[in-house]
Amino acid sequence: MDFALSEEQRMFRDMFRNFAAKELAPRADEIDHAETMPPEIVRKAVDQGFFGATLPEDCYGAALDHVSYVLLLENLATACASLAVSVAAHVSLVAMSILEFGTDAQKEEWLPPMAAGEVIGAFALTEPDAGTDTRVLETRARYDGDEVILDGVKTWVTNGEQAGLFLVFARGPQGMDAYLVPRDAPGLTVGYREPTLGLRSAYFNTVYLEGCRVPQANRLGAPGDGEKIARRAEDRMSIALAAIGLGLAESSVDVAAQYATERVQFGVPIGQKQAIQNYIANAHAETEALRYLVYRAAWLVDQGENFSVDASLVKTFAARMARSVTNWMLQVLGGYGFMEDYPMARKYRDARVLGIIGGPTEWHTFRVAQAIFAAKDMAIAP
Ligand SMILES: Cc1cc2nc3c(=O)[nH]c(=O)nc-3n(C[C@H](O)[C@H](O)[C@H](O)COP(=O)(O)OP(=O)(O)OC[C@H]3O[C@@H](n4cnc5c(N)ncnc54)[C@H](O)[C@@H]3O)c2cc1C
Repeated sequence: MDFALSEEQRMFRDMFRNFAAKELAPRADEIDHAETMPPEIVRKAVDQGFFGATLPEDCYGAALDHVSYVLLLENLATACASLAVSVAAHVSLVAMSILEFGTDAQKEEWLPPMAAGEVIGAFALTEPDAGTDTRVLETRARYDGDEVILDGVKTWVTNGEQAGLFLVFARGPQGMDAYLVPRDAPGLTVGYREPTLGLRSAYFNTVYLEGCRVPQANRLGAPGDGEKIARRAEDRMSIALAAIGLGLAESSVDVAAQYATERVQFGVPIGQKQAIQNYIANAHAETEALRYLVYRAAWLVDQGENFSVDASLVKTFAARMARSVTNWMLQVLGGYGFMEDYPMARKYRDARVLGIIGGPTEWHTFRVAQAIFAAKDMAIAP
């Protein structure tokens, strides 16, 4: 069993760490409070190849393996989880879906500009009445000759504000379909930006489709393939979000440990107190356990193994660990942890969403239980 990163993976990790420390950390609180993602920060991330992270070189991508990709998201999230989530939605949900299910023409049209950050991707599955249960989508796809007409409302679309391309899921005559819908398609409107508890520098929008016309050639996969495409995207995104949870957890431990060496109470640094030592040591143990689950899930992807159940498993664990670790590390900072002047409050708020975004914990826990009971010949329903 070999837990070591390769030399190349270590080199990438150091590069991502450097980028996070130099370009993101100094501005992360400011942009969180301003609830904006400055274009120059996105430009720098694009210039580093982050938006084409796992795309192959012939699409002008960085051709990272999946372990290196989770190292990227982990390190971005140590400084700014909002940017990490934006990159993950673009890469894991949209670009990789096109790479896996797209025709040659679709790949040629969309992947080079997506790798170059000229087109940002957004994934439009969730609806006001179809959250965890995506079987009840109300968005309809009506075929009209060579075109498809889309009608419906999509909610909480990550990157909605900046997106040039939406991967839209809709019910067609043969089941759920997936369509590549450019932002300028007639009938598509990007609406309300949701104010959120965390990830305040990321953009979550409602998207309206009113008689929105796209060519049939924009369908990703065959008619009825939408569910399969959405599930694969959700699996990839689960690992990506777990990596973001890891970045939030490890950076919280780092901030709290440093604080515990500096804050003096009862005449000694609080790190001299056993309660504080326990909080930090336990949080570190939880973080390291998460690290190896995340790297293992990414390694399964690189090996071409089935990673579906492991993706749900690591997602539920990451959501729980990131919440628990940020909570206890905030405790170490006492009142300062509760103040927005310190990054801890932001990390705590950002970690909270991991149990919801990309499918709630209850759903992913169900999928793990489903696999356990399937081995005992018992089927269970959500
Ligand atoms: C910040 C953020 C970004 C997002 N980005 C995107 C995006 O880019 N694209 C997109 O399509 N969607 C996106 N979503 C939507 C997200 O995937 C959904 O919020 C999620 O799938 C849950 O749906 P819901 O919020 O409607 O909750 P509901 O489905 O209404 O669930 C409410 C509660 O009931 C529980 N529940 C539901 N069914 C069961 C069951 N069978 N058994 C037990 N418990 C159950 C849930 O776990 C949850 O706790 C985003 C959400 C957030 C918060």
